[in-house]
Amino acid sequence: MKDFPKPKYPLVWEKDDFFIKIFCSIPNLATGILLRAANTRFVIDPGDGILRDLNKELKVKDILEIESVFISHGHHDHVGGLWSFLTYLSVMNKQTPLNIYFPKGAVEITSIYRAFHEVYSKELPYEIRLIEVEGKEEYNLNGVKVIPFRVNHREEISGTDKTVEVPSLGFKFFYNDKSICYGGDTAYCDSLEEMAKDSDLAVIEAGAEDGEESELHMTMEQAYSIGSSAKEYFLVHVPE
Ligand SMILES: [Zn+2]
Repeated sequence: MKDFPKPKYPLVWEKDDFFIKIFCSIPNLATGILLRAANTRFVIDPGDGILRDLNKELKVKDILEIESVFISHGHHDHVGGLWSFLTYLSVMNKQTPLNIYFPKGAVEITSIYRAFHEVYSKELPYEIRLIEVEGKEEYNLNGVKVIPFRVNHREEISGTDKTVEVPSLGFKFFYNDKSICYGGDTAYCDSLEEMAKDSDLAVIEAGAEDGEESELHMTMEQAYSIGSSAKEYFLVHVPE
C-alpha cells in the first residue's frame, strides 16, 4: 500500500494567474477554499473560519469584490462560515451582488439564506442571488468557465444503519488553457473520474474513516487513483 502523507494546510497551487488556496479541509470541522483567476475571486465551500482566513489573505476591498460562492453540499463543515461571511459583507458595505451557487435541494443553504434575509434584509447593502444548480449547467464568469457536476455523497440516518443521498456537486473551473477540478465530498463515482482526468489540478477528498470503503467518502487509494489521472492533485478532507 502506498504511504499517503496527511495534507498540511494551507495547500496552494498557482499557474499563469490561476490560483487556488485550500485554507483547510478537515472532516467534521471545516473546508474553506479561495480560487482566483486574474482579478476574479471565488469562495468555494465557506466552512467555519473562512472569514478569518480570507482576512489574512486579502485586503477588505478584495473580499468585498468577491462575486461568487460555490457550495458543494450543505454539510456543516462546508457551510458553517456562510452566515458570518454574509454578515461581514453587509457590515463592510459590499455594493456588488453576491452569487451563491449550490446544489438543487440543499435545504441547508436555502434555510440559512431565509433566516439571514429575515434578520438583515432591511439593512443589506448588496444583493444575494441564490443559484440552484442541477449539475448540467455551464457558467461563464469574467473569463472563468465553471462546469458543475453531480457527485455521490450520502449521510447516515441517526439511529439506523441506513444512509440517504445528499444533493452534492463537484466543480470544474477553466481559465485560459488551465483547469482545476474540485470534487467536493463524494464516494467513488464516474462523474468525478471523468472530470478530474487531465485537469491541471484535481482536489480530491479522501474522507473514508479508517480507510474503509464507504458510500459516503473515498479511501486514500480511491482518491489517489482519481487524483493521479490529473496533472497534479491534492488529496484533502482526510480524517485527522
Ligand atoms: Zn459531507
